[in-house]
Amino acid sequence: MKRAAAVVLILLLTACAREPDGTRRQFFALGTLVDITVMAPPEKADAALRDAEQALLEFERRWRAWNEGQLAVLNGQLTEGQPVILAENIASGIRQARQLERESRGLFNPAIGKLVELWGFHQEERKAEPPPSDADIQVWLDAAPSLNDLVAENGKFVSRKPQLWLDMGAFAKGLAVNAAIEVLKKHGITDAIVNAGGDLKVLGTHGERRWRIGVRDPRGPGILAAIEVSGPVSVFTSGDYERWFEWEGRRYHHLLDPRSGYPAMQTTSLTVLHEDAARADAAATALFVAGDDWPLIARSMGIEAVMRVPAEGPVEITPAMQAYINWEDRQPEYRVIKP
Ligand code: AMP
Ligand code: MG
Repeated sequence: MKRAAAVVLILLLTACAREPDGTRRQFFALGTLVDITVMAPPEKADAALRDAEQALLEFERRWRAWNEGQLAVLNGQLTEGQPVILAENIASGIRQARQLERESRGLFNPAIGKLVELWGFHQEERKAEPPPSDADIQVWLDAAPSLNDLVAENGKFVSRKPQLWLDMGAFAKGLAVNAAIEVLKKHGITDAIVNAGGDLKVLGTHGERRWRIGVRDPRGPGILAAIEVSGPVSVFTSGDYERWFEWEGRRYHHLLDPRSGYPAMQTTSLTVLHEDAARADAAATALFVAGDDWPLIARSMGIEAVMRVPAEGPVEITPAMQAYINWEDRQPEYRVIKP
């Protein structure tokens, strides 16, 4: 989105509204529209909402991998081989990401920034240009950078590979949503939803009923299913419809398989539930990239509730997910798969 248009939209959307049964605030952060509802009257909710918004804006500055973000500066130093001291909040995020990378067997790879850049998905609006050459992709594959290449030396971190470029795009939203929920809890809020463009975490319930989350249909308008949950739980989806381009009749999207260097083509959308939003975010990306092998990665990442829309064939859901799904009158053909 063009910056001027975004600013106008922000002005229109930075709004705090009284819901019939809660207080709601909407604003732009983390590259998307964030929508928070707190089940409390404005007297109790307003300060919590304001602080949660501040926490998310702060996150955005910290974790942006390109342009002027804190992570971008760090990336520049690391590629030059400089030893860096990491602020504790960045270091703890990197530690969590490293653990999740291992559990995902490298399919969630937060060191993937240079490959993302080769494909042009680091730009807000991708230029019309062809996909990268196989030779360029092969150079990245030969280097195979990973968070394991970020090593501690004399109290500082150094990168062992110039190709290592941190891109927390698959996971930072989860960290941020966790942080916003913690802010709300500190204010004594027990029932709330923090929704960052469809990826979200809920606490408690929506009044008398569970929170109802629509999961988008990856190939049509409207929603595929409603997931009904009470918190604390996070719902994260990775979909091939979020960022993509077409070149010579072929479609290429932003979820890259670190084994091939190409977009992962066996899945169109994958949704997971987990209490920890950071784990849910990383897992949605990793299980998407895993294609048909997703049950294996779900096991190793400790994810039980999954819904996958494969590129071909019926929707797949785990028994744990089945318990939360309400198809209403739209029930598609589906299979239940135990991870
Ligand atoms: P998400 O929407 O959470 O699945 O994150 C997608 C973003 O993560 C992309 O736009 C890339 O910046 C980055 N990304 C793409 N492929 C991977 C991968 N295999 N591992 C980690 N990050 C990735
Ligand atoms: Mg993700």
